[in-house]
Amino acid sequence: MMTIKTVFAQCITCNSVESVDVDAGVLHDWRHGGGLVQDLFPALTSPEREVLIGNRSDMHTCAECWDQLRVDEQEADIYMEEENHEVE
Ligand SMILES: [Zn+2]
Repeated sequence: MMTIKTVFAQCITCNSVESVDVDAGVLHDWRHGGGLVQDLFPALTSPEREVLIGNRSDMHTCAECWDQLRVDEQEADIYMEEENHEVE
């Protein structure tokens, strides 16, 4: 029988809590250096893997805030491209 463990991670930006259900045995292996998260949990989506990584590192950023970060970066790029330089 497989035991399911629910892992939580709180976003450091907006404080929202996300969770993911995983096999407790595989989770134990991963926490003890049993391999990469994407190899041990191939069925999880990348936001779900982020919850596991965030739970372990205590530095979680939720999917929504990641999207926001990407938008901010894109806006910064646009600003850089539009910047004018006076040349003699
Ligand atoms: Zn967030």
